[in-house]
Amino acid sequence: MRISIIGCGASGMTAAISAIRSGADPAQITIYEASDRPGRKILATGNGRCNLGNEYLDASCFYTSDREGDEFLDELISSFTAYDLKSFFDSLGIITVSKNGYLYPRSMQASSVLNALMTELNSAGVQPVYSSVVTCIERSDDGFLLKVNDSQVKCDRVILASGLGSGGFEIKNSDPAVMFGSLLKDKNRFRNNLPALCGLTVSEDITSCAGVRAKGRVSLYSGDELLGSDEGELQFTKECISGIPVFQISRQASVYLDMERYVTVCIDLMPEMTSDELSSYIMNYINTHPDRKIYELLNGMLNDKLAKYIYLKAGISGRDEVSKIPSDNIDRLITLCKELTFTVTGTESKEKAQTMCGGISPCLIDKNCMLKDVNGAYVTGELLDIDGKCGGYNLYLAWATGLIAGRSVMK
Ligand SMILES: Cc1cc2nc3c(=O)[nH]c(=O)nc-3n(C[C@H](O)[C@H](O)[C@H](O)COP(=O)(O)OP(=O)(O)OC[C@H]3O[C@@H](n4cnc5c(N)ncnc54)[C@H](O)[C@@H]3O)c2cc1C
Repeated sequence: MRISIIGCGASGMTAAISAIRSGADPAQITIYEASDRPGRKILATGNGRCNLGNEYLDASCFYTSDREGDEFLDELISSFTAYDLKSFFDSLGIITVSKNGYLYPRSMQASSVLNALMTELNSAGVQPVYSSVVTCIERSDDGFLLKVNDSQVKCDRVILASGLGSGGFEIKNSDPAVMFGSLLKDKNRFRNNLPALCGLTVSEDITSCAGVRAKGRVSLYSGDELLGSDEGELQFTKECISGIPVFQISRQASVYLDMERYVTVCIDLMPEMTSDELSSYIMNYINTHPDRKIYELLNGMLNDKLAKYIYLKAGISGRDEVSKIPSDNIDRLITLCKELTFTVTGTESKEKAQTMCGGISPCLIDKNCMLKDVNGAYVTGELLDIDGKCGGYNLYLAWATGLIAGRSVMK
């Protein structure tokens, strides 16, 4: 049986390994990879450390445009648990370690994960075919016909593992919707893909805060509707608010902005204090040190660039004495520390995003990751309309669907 795998990323490699372990003849497996090397995205994961999974797995850690997709997710999580994930890596010679539930290779190097996957493939005799762009897949009488560069190739099974080009790994001349469009009966179930796990651009001038890293809670709103919220280290660039908490809410921002809705982010720079506690702290400071300059007030609490930004917004001059701050401005200062609000104008581009929302609806595939209407065609990884939160969930999805598709291909 000739098996073609499109894409030598996390899910494509895992699918090939799984197919071989399930009895497929390695000589009949071809991995077509558009770039000149395997697993480029794996090397970029987890800042080069590869957060390859998470001990806590639940459908709520993933998003999909179709609520019906939850059924697929529940099935996936129960058939491929965190224990299965660790065992898979164990079998490749990768010892996993947990940091608060986030799983990494013990080496803390993404390159060791890629090496282990490639060693397994190469020792079975599978050499991916590089610089091979698949532009079209069609059904033929007895299988599939693939257009690879300028040639036509036949196969009996095809595993679509080509991702959606997040992180700057887009392939020129390869539009996924064109590539496998003829396989999809309901083309509306291939959703427009939008950046997820990325920073948010804002309309306010935040250039003075560029480079700041600060702890805080970020909440995303469309009008009064709370779309998401998360806490941790925030990062500011010249035009963007970023950091893991922002990544976690970015897909909701993407979706609402795509619907042309007005979206704001509200940052609580002191989530460990209530407004009343902050007010008491400030009043106490003013009473104890009435002669101190205003810029001393937030000195031990906030990054100085952020504090300056807030004084400016509150209409307070840092050089005055704290006892001279009008009470209205103190109230405004407290509000700004607790609810620093920005208008979201967009997300960072696909090139900067760690994943995409959109892709092929999980409703179109069965529990073996096979397209329900196309016997022998499987879909894995990022190409599916499922995107995970930060924390190893997207790689989990890639390994899990790759493994399931690979072992099902021989059935
Ligand atoms: C900077 C960054 C950091 C990340 N960190 C993490 C992390 O720590 N933890 C985590 O869980 N997730 C992380 N992710 C997300 C994770 O990397 C992806 O979800 C995962 O790699 C998707 O795997 P995949 O195999 O489905 O797709 P991909 O990794 O995108 O692989 C697809 C492959 O197919 C090839 N291809 C595409 N089109 C064609 C074509 N037409 N013909 C032939 N080949 C083609 C591509 O070149 C690519 O090699 C990160 C992503 C980025 C960008």
